[in-house]
Amino acid sequence: MGKLSVAIPAYNEELMLPKTASVLTQLLEKENIDFELVFVDDGSKDATWQRIEEEARRDSRVHGVHFSRNFGKEAAIFAGLACSRGDCVAVMDCDLQHPPGTLVEMFRLWEQGYEVVEAVKRTRGEESMFHRASAGMFYSIMSSVTQIDMERASDFKLLDRRAVDTLISMPEKNVFFRALSSWIGYRQASVEFDVQEREAGQSKWSTLGLIRYAISNITGFSTLPMQIVTGAGILVFVLALILGINTLIHYCTGTAVEGFTTVILLILLIGSIIMISMGIIGYYIARIYQEVQGRPRYIISRML
Ligand code: UDP
Ligand code: MG
Repeated sequence: MGKLSVAIPAYNEELMLPKTASVLTQLLEKENIDFELVFVDDGSKDATWQRIEEEARRDSRVHGVHFSRNFGKEAAIFAGLACSRGDCVAVMDCDLQHPPGTLVEMFRLWEQGYEVVEAVKRTRGEESMFHRASAGMFYSIMSSVTQIDMERASDFKLLDRRAVDTLISMPEKNVFFRALSSWIGYRQASVEFDVQEREAGQSKWSTLGLIRYAISNITGFSTLPMQIVTGAGILVFVLALILGINTLIHYCTGTAVEGFTTVILLILLIGSIIMISMGIIGYYIARIYQEVQGRPRYIISRML
């Protein structure tokens, strides 16, 4: 029987962490699953690390990784994968919004030979209207760009050692776990779960954070926006042809005096298209720049 590692990114989760640790420990012991818990403290500003230390002192199956600062959930997930020693590694949130019962279901599927088991949301939990709308927009853009159903996808996944090694050996620094874990292939299976309500603490996502996340993931998975630039160029070229012929006719018939409005409109239109296009290309250049710098995904300052 294989050993299960549970990688748990935690950012300012002092309230939830002890509960999560005890719920998981009790459940996995009851199910007779050999396990370890790997908490990744993503540079929390509260007592999360002290809580992890306390848990680790009490139970040798609890391990902790502490980042030198907040690197974001993606980095924390990858650190969790890299520091896990199990034959399979599950990634789940620290707020128990991912039901532990589903984790056992996923583990059983892994025992049947599936190498990537993903949990998809049957329903979304309680969220504010605004958050629901912005998350909805984010996921529909992401789904069309990555060709993966992002609406229901989550970071709650269980990966075989082989899949884990594939993921952590990827050279790119800017990673998107949710999409990459299905992109790698392998024998995949999925289970459904209902997103639970967060009992304590609050969601760490701001709308601005979601937008930044969306841009970084879209540029990471698709060059479609750059093709849109080409499309815009072709459109303006067609307009230029029509207007050009029109202008020539006016010139030849000797009526080429007015047309000041057209000039202003053209300058504004072309100017804005050029600037937007440069912005889009800029995002890709920024990504290339970041990758070329080759900085690590995260910096670990302490480990248990
Ligand atoms: N998280 C993290 N680093 C961050 C933000 C969040 O490790 O910068 C962790 C957080 O502690 C939690 C998980 O990611 O375990 C999901 O975060 P949250 O519950 O805030 O997101 P939501 O459930 O609202 O999507
Ligand atoms: Mg949550």
